[in-house]
Amino acid sequence: MKQMFIGGRWLAAQDGRTIPVVSPADGEAFEQIPRGGAHEVDRAVAAARAALDGPWGRLGATERGRILGRIADAVLAHEDELARIEAQDTGKPTSTARNDIRVLARYFEFYGAAADKVHGQTIPFLPGHQVSLLREPLGVTAHIIPWNYPAQMLGRTVAPALAMGNAAVLKPAEDTSLSALRFAEIATAAGLPEGALNIVTGLGEEAGAALAAHPGIDFVSFTGSNEVGTLVQQAAARHAVKCVLELGGKSPQIVFDDVDAARAVPIIVRAIVQNAGQTCTAGSRLLVQRSIHDRFVSLVAEAFARVRVGTPAMDLDCGPVMNPAQQRRVQRYIDEARAAGIPVLAEGRIEADAPRTGFYVKPTLFGPVPRDAALAREEVFGPVLAALPFDDEADAIRLANGTDYGLLAAVWTENAGRLQRVAKAVRAGQVFMNCYGAGGGVELPFGGTKRSGHGREKGLLALEELSTTKTLVQFHG
Ligand code: NAP
Ligand code: MG
Repeated sequence: MKQMFIGGRWLAAQDGRTIPVVSPADGEAFEQIPRGGAHEVDRAVAAARAALDGPWGRLGATERGRILGRIADAVLAHEDELARIEAQDTGKPTSTARNDIRVLARYFEFYGAAADKVHGQTIPFLPGHQVSLLREPLGVTAHIIPWNYPAQMLGRTVAPALAMGNAAVLKPAEDTSLSALRFAEIATAAGLPEGALNIVTGLGEEAGAALAAHPGIDFVSFTGSNEVGTLVQQAAARHAVKCVLELGGKSPQIVFDDVDAARAVPIIVRAIVQNAGQTCTAGSRLLVQRSIHDRFVSLVAEAFARVRVGTPAMDLDCGPVMNPAQQRRVQRYIDEARAAGIPVLAEGRIEADAPRTGFYVKPTLFGPVPRDAALAREEVFGPVLAALPFDDEADAIRLANGTDYGLLAAVWTENAGRLQRVAKAVRAGQVFMNCYGAGGGVELPFGGTKRSGHGREKGLLALEELSTTKTLVQFHG
């Protein structure tokens, strides 16, 4: 039975309640985590505030950065163990989990190195005055993260918060809290002072809601569904607290008739089956110019049919999806598209010896998908790819921009002018040209437009989101 991590101490929930931790690979419960709620959130926020007033808050930026760097090294030293924990908890292939742990370390390396390179400014003003603009931490930062990339998400949101000198309270997803808890131990051993990072495990509607609504927080970062993101923003608004929201996408792969198909096809398949499609940046719409549509999509179908699904230990292209609700949701999209007569162009294969009790779904490529179909517009969050033809550049842009989302996009063409025109016309936080980076790029500012959310994570811009400024004006005569 695991405990929560608050103020440098390990705690059960006050009322002793727990949540079973289930392996998506076989549906078996193998661990328990505490079901924290408002009481534990209170304690965690108080512990974070105390850290800001204590040794953590008094550290200089260089020393904070060094601590983050030591955490990065310690994560890498525990890579095998953390990857095992992550793979068991999420069901993802072992090598994917291992990569996630490396990315977690990379976030701490990147933001540790950046901690003392965020400088203020001086501003010319009236004669006899000296003006300086300081960058300061926001204070207590709240972080509510989803279950698809638990370790990466922790790194993405907590590392820049700590680099800027905030004290963090993290609410991991109830399905995937284990890597965060082990991380807290490792980070503490590497020198992270008590209270700088606090982890409250529990249900979203209890611990998560209590955290977003807590009057003691100064910022909230949320990644997850649109529905909950809106609730979190409403809760934060009641205390005028800033929030960064990352709410998923329906990202298009826009393929023109002069595509380098040999390069594009494997990247396009990977961008939707990676992490069983449970990636906010999954390339879930394949938009192909009509003149090459059938030929190109048949190449994608060939590659798609080779996708294999299995347990973490089998280490194939795909694992199971996260939980029974997600399995039902993805299966419902597949069943409804089939029932509507949308052709299935290819299916991946679930290994025969993957446990029947696991939460597996068959990766499926549909096409041509009507433009108004759910599959063409809604985030499935599973290994389901929708192919749609377009006529010309203008039609491609209209179609690419025709959903509520705007997170990522990719443009595939050998025509340099068209690459630039289309990339600039597409509404998205990141556009890849003849490549794709679902989930990658610690250095690359990332976030949504439209209903995909707002605010920026990753790269140096995250440090601006996670800090505020103070303008000092001095009259010196
Ligand atoms: P979710 O409910 O939005 O969960 C995301 C996070 O918010 C989790 O930590 C969750 O905790 C917490 N939460 C839930 N209800 C809350 C509330 N009322 N107040 C504050 N926090 C709350 O997402 P989900 O149910 O896991 O997945 C549903 C769908 O969301 C997916 O099918 C997918 O379409 C989308 N999704 C998107 C992303 C993304 O990266 N953009 C990630 C995951 C899911 P608990 O997990 O403990 O409930
Ligand atoms: Mg689990």
